[in-house]
Amino acid sequence: MAWDFSTEPEFEQKLEWMRQFCKEEIEPLETLNLDYETLVKVVKPMQQEVKKRGLFAAHLSEDLGGQGFGQLKLGLMHEILGRCYISPLVFGNNAPDSGNAELIAIGIKETGREDQRDKWLEPLLKGEKHSGFSMTEPGVAGSDPTLIKTTAVKDGDEWVINGHKWFTTNGSIADFLIVMAVTNPDVHPYQGCSMILVPADTKGVEIIRDVPTMGEPHVVFGTFGGHSEIKYTDVRVPVENLIGHEGQGFRLAQERLGPGRIHHAMRWIGQANRAFDILCEQSLSRFMHKSYLAEKQTAQNWIAESYAELMAARLMTLYAAWKMDTFGNKASRVEISAVKFYGAKVLYNVIDRAIQACGALGFSGDLPLEAMYRYARAARIYDGADEVHKVTIARQVLKNYEKKEVLSEYGPARRKLAEEKFKDVLLNLT
Ligand SMILES: Cc1cc2nc3c(=O)[nH]c(=O)nc-3n(C[C@H](O)[C@H](O)[C@H](O)COP(=O)(O)OP(=O)(O)OC[C@H]3O[C@@H](n4cnc5c(N)ncnc54)[C@H](O)[C@@H]3O)c2cc1C
Repeated sequence: MAWDFSTEPEFEQKLEWMRQFCKEEIEPLETLNLDYETLVKVVKPMQQEVKKRGLFAAHLSEDLGGQGFGQLKLGLMHEILGRCYISPLVFGNNAPDSGNAELIAIGIKETGREDQRDKWLEPLLKGEKHSGFSMTEPGVAGSDPTLIKTTAVKDGDEWVINGHKWFTTNGSIADFLIVMAVTNPDVHPYQGCSMILVPADTKGVEIIRDVPTMGEPHVVFGTFGGHSEIKYTDVRVPVENLIGHEGQGFRLAQERLGPGRIHHAMRWIGQANRAFDILCEQSLSRFMHKSYLAEKQTAQNWIAESYAELMAARLMTLYAAWKMDTFGNKASRVEISAVKFYGAKVLYNVIDRAIQACGALGFSGDLPLEAMYRYARAARIYDGADEVHKVTIARQVLKNYEKKEVLSEYGPARRKLAEEKFKDVLLNLT
């Protein structure tokens, strides 16, 4: 009977080192508001330390050339990294670089195109280059990627790309972009879209702006974590810049998004735990109306509900990670979708309660809560809006049921069947 909630001691030691390193070395950087270039310089020696310990860019499976930690261990690592937005950069697995590296690695595995390893994959894994994932377009619903308008047409030994994208995270600091485009308009988009690698300085790539958002209302162009609007006009790249096989863009996107969602969800738990710590500290420290906040039932409800929701989200996520490691990504679709929308809600709820407990201080910039709250809102939209994941779950779950004329639990029908089944027994009793 294997049903174990513990972490093996050797790996727990690594996690403990990560907890301390993130708390003592990385988290204090948050308060300095460094610009991107300064931040990159400051974290360099930290990245060296992480590399020395074999924990840098640890997200690839063994068959893709990585360390092969598996989703469960990666999940536990991301829980620690999620407390602070700078930590994933220090550990070489910030979005979208980690997911993009995975895409390129899967492409290399499927096509044997080893030239893409040195040129695109290795610089990403070493943290020497940054990338963007350019799929969503301003004019059409991102939730329905079959509506994509961007095209890539083969002309000799080049792709010619035309389209308009936005919300390409890190687009304005990226060395290259992965563009999702229609390469065959004559078939269903699920078989007619492809992903193509485009160096950001290619002629015709116009990074128009970093879009101001709820997370960064006064965004400075070229900032780490910015979301770029990009126009691609007659952009020419060699045909060998295709990732995987032609027409496989959607399938590759699905493979990339599964693990990414687990990592997001565990980072949210790390974030929410930080808010939970503030909620508990504040409850014990704030005195009003003859008692501490912690002695009032409202605050006790906030703490108890947050604790239970966090525990539920954590177990759901670790279970999904275990299922992915054991049965693969495809078999874990329902669990991944459940984690994605439920985790986003828990993150939001816990931060909201912590803000309420802190009153004006919670609303102010003197605590990290207000920023956490603004960023948390996006979690219900990116990597698939809540509603899309709920559709996936409901569709899959309903496959286990069938339409009935009379519901299985309808009492009179059940009684009739039971009377028939026990007829002889009941007769013999009288
Ligand atoms: C912080 C952030 C980072 C992002 N990073 C990237 C990136 O790096 N690269 C990239 O390509 N994109 C990125 N995106 C875009 C993201 O993928 C899209 O926002 C998302 O896919 C939703 O698409 P949309 O915004 O066009 O909303 P729409 O598709 O227009 O949907 C609007 C709303 O309709 C509802 N809805 C959708 N489908 C259904 C349904 N079936 N049933 C009921 N209701 C439904 C949902 O509530 C949804 O929020 C990012 C977005 C954010 C917020």
